[in-house]
Amino acid sequence: MSNYPDRVITSQSQDFNAWYLDVIANAELADYGPVRGTMVIRPYGYAIWEAIQEFLNVKFKETGHSNMYFPQFIPYSFIEKEASHVEGFSPELALVTIGGGKELEEKLVVRPTSETIVNHMFTQWIHSYRDLPLMVNQWANVTRWEMRTKPFIRTLEFLWQEGHTAHATPEEAENEAIQMINIYTKFAYEQAAIPVIAGRKSRVETFAGASKTYTIEAMMGDRKALQAGTSHNLGQNFSRAFGTQFTDENGQRLHVWQTSWAISTRFVGGIIMTHGDDAGLMLPPRLAPIQVIIIPIWKKDAEKMEVLNAASSVKEVLQTAGVQVKLDDSDLRTPGWKFNFWEMKGVPLRIEIGPRDVSSRSVVISRRDIPGKQGKVFGISMEPSILLAYVKDKLDEIQSSLLGQATSFRDSNIVDVSSYDELKLAISQGKWARGPWSASDEDELKVKEETGATIRCFPFQQPQGIKTCLMTGNPAEEVAIFAKSY
Ligand code: AMP
Repeated sequence: MSNYPDRVITSQSQDFNAWYLDVIANAELADYGPVRGTMVIRPYGYAIWEAIQEFLNVKFKETGHSNMYFPQFIPYSFIEKEASHVEGFSPELALVTIGGGKELEEKLVVRPTSETIVNHMFTQWIHSYRDLPLMVNQWANVTRWEMRTKPFIRTLEFLWQEGHTAHATPEEAENEAIQMINIYTKFAYEQAAIPVIAGRKSRVETFAGASKTYTIEAMMGDRKALQAGTSHNLGQNFSRAFGTQFTDENGQRLHVWQTSWAISTRFVGGIIMTHGDDAGLMLPPRLAPIQVIIIPIWKKDAEKMEVLNAASSVKEVLQTAGVQVKLDDSDLRTPGWKFNFWEMKGVPLRIEIGPRDVSSRSVVISRRDIPGKQGKVFGISMEPSILLAYVKDKLDEIQSSLLGQATSFRDSNIVDVSSYDELKLAISQGKWARGPWSASDEDELKVKEETGATIRCFPFQQPQGIKTCLMTGNPAEEVAIFAKSY
């Protein structure tokens, strides 16, 4: 248990779930909404989401997608048009039956995902091969009436981006689905310092209405898997259901090939549970709303002015260079309290400036990811170019150190298995099991029932050589990763 003047965080080893909820509350990331399963995202949590948005939005545009917006209300009949889609989503739908005090002629679905309404519109916009590819994205809220909820990870209403594309050929759609899961993978590694495993979902776990689902799977601090983003090759499933056709160069009418892909506010939960420790949040510098916190220290009033002046000019130097920096010059809290508070908020670097530092024209810098004295360096010059170079260098070091730590944690918790007994043992030890798999959907469901683990994915990176299915002993082309998940 970590103690702060007025806050307590359960230790991870004592109760990981309680730790997670304590961090969310104390770091002021989110709060519960009045309706079960809903969440209020507070400014600090929202700022992390904004950092995610800023990065991805640029990538989406670079790869030829335009942002747009579809309405949140979808006629119920649309959802019914694609058989497996309605089957998959029915239990989670929120419906509007009354509007303006009157029973509606047709009930409306509150958007759980937009493939149906997107196809309805695409059908009107796509006429010939000249209209393809059509590649759009929207940033929106979605509603899924989840029974088990957890802040950020699974909420009734969440924020996400959903990309939707239509293509003339199956190859183009497949390339697009792969391109987008690759963008998510790169984002996870390079921005969030989360070493996700990218791969293909099993048939059982494929999105309702998709031909293929690609996923990025992340290992949380309690070793459970988190599906952190998905990209679907929808084939012609929705275009057939909605009659989305184009005329090709030879005058032939053909159905378009489609994709959809999404990352949600769940990703914020993934960052918390990948990097956090008993002191609280630990944010990767590239997504941290505050990368550097400056804490001025003074005892006598006579010192205050010169310390604050020095702190302000240090802030100015960093801010001008594009570093996200905050100066905590409040009189109301002690420096010790502030150290703990900003550590708990996961700020990567702390700069202390006291009267002695002012006279020596230097500062003290501490790293969030290296606790205590070891992470503390005295006497870094205040000279702008030296200080700035040092800060940028340390932020980069922290970024790669977080990725390194998460990667070794992940790798030390994945076990290669060649039999069902070995799989059961690995899962019972809380690990991920990786082994050859070519068994049936029924066998996959049996594993779920008996162990609680599901196939997270068939990873893109596959070992060489001939493999034997761990369940049936038949030849297997691929290994799958099994794990308990959120
Ligand atoms: P899907 O449309 O089911 O493939 O989900 C798209 C993305 O949204 C996935 O990356 C999920 O991780 C995420 N997601 C799905 N359901 C929820 C939920 N209830 N709350 C937050 N994120 C979700």
